[in-house]
Amino acid sequence: MEKKTVTIHPCIRCGRCIRVCPVALNPVNIMSTMKTMPVDRAKVKLLNPLACTDCQLCSEICPSNIDVATIVKRAKTIAKLP
Ligand code: SF4
Ligand code: SF4
Repeated sequence: MEKKTVTIHPCIRCGRCIRVCPVALNPVNIMSTMKTMPVDRAKVKLLNPLACTDCQLCSEICPSNIDVATIVKRAKTIAKLP
């Protein structure tokens, strides 16, 4: 079977992931916060990733092919930490 390759491009901050999110999250902002070193856990919590329903729409709509939903999923793990 032929393997489908997808090229991932940098985020162009188009805001589509924000507009498509059914629970009004800001996936691109969550993604940027997750890239900080060390991760700003307080900010991650404030962005409320725990509300994510894992619908995958943000990843599907991203013109840069970024798997935003997976990053939000990682943010959920961070938000659950005490
Ligand atoms: S849809 Fe993709 S390119 Fe657009 S802001 Fe969100 S992460 Fe960035
Ligand atoms: S996967 Fe989560 S962050 Fe992405 S659009 Fe769905 S609810 Fe919003």
